[in-house]
Amino acid sequence: MSNVEAEPAEVTCTSAPGTVEVLQPRNVPLGGPRAMSVRRTLPQKQRSFIGAWCFCDHYGPDNVRMDVAPHPHTGLQTVSWLFTGEIEHRDSHGVHAYVRPGELNLMTGGRGIAHSEVSTPSSTVLHGEQLWLALPDAHRDAPRDFQHHVPPTVHVDGAEVRVFLGSLAGSTSPVTTFTPLLGAELVLPAGATVELPVRPDFEHGVLLDTGDVTLQETALTPGALGYAGTGHDTLTLSTRDGARVVLLGGVPFSEEIVMWWNFVGRTHDEIAAWRDEWQAETDRFGRVEGYDGARLPAPPLPGGRLRPRGNPA
Ligand code: MN
Repeated sequence: MSNVEAEPAEVTCTSAPGTVEVLQPRNVPLGGPRAMSVRRTLPQKQRSFIGAWCFCDHYGPDNVRMDVAPHPHTGLQTVSWLFTGEIEHRDSHGVHAYVRPGELNLMTGGRGIAHSEVSTPSSTVLHGEQLWLALPDAHRDAPRDFQHHVPPTVHVDGAEVRVFLGSLAGSTSPVTTFTPLLGAELVLPAGATVELPVRPDFEHGVLLDTGDVTLQETALTPGALGYAGTGHDTLTLSTRDGARVVLLGGVPFSEEIVMWWNFVGRTHDEIAAWRDEWQAETDRFGRVEGYDGARLPAPPLPGGRLRPRGNPA
């Protein structure tokens, strides 16, 4: 088949260094007891990872009650980051904690963990992000763990910066991860232009929560995730009316994963076996004490075999 245009335009197919790719969110109703809808930017066809960040759900502000019954995880770490609201967390590592705005809660479910998440009675509005980190092969059976950290606020070019994972602007999170990573919330005042020194071996994503922001030369709409590949020494963020963004980064994750329901694995058979173990209530995932209600049953596996995927070349 041939191009039938009379005067085909010249198209440059290589992306120029510094080009920002915009990942638009899609709305995903979570259904079930969690009557809320999220804006998902990772994973999507265009991109599976930013560093080891493999899942990015952005939600609210919504007047909803969250009640997620005990459910399992494998091969990943979960990061809960709230802007508004309060969520009570219980897990099979024996942790009972509260997720609050500006406080990092990182749960490790390598070999297997279970947890529940319920908004507290005083929490009427929920607004935040649920993020997952894929564990690299050498650590994907890591034992259950839970780390909590309240990052201090530092200032860069008038912006407030809270570094919850990794290092930025002289602020370093003490929270340990299994691959080099960055996670930070930035609040930019109206008219600000912020130059952030970043590691050139990292790729980065900027999720616009509220307001307006331009990453390098590319304006983002609220809910979109701007992606900048490796090779940058600085990232420039500017805003007209002010903005709140979350900056994610990491060394590109080179492994392929199979992600289904709440599991990150490497093969279909592994995922199917974990699903059976959850249904059979084996001790791989343990018990969540103190949750009032039944645990979440696993959905049926889709027809056909789950296929591993990585980032497009
Ligand atoms: Mn979970």
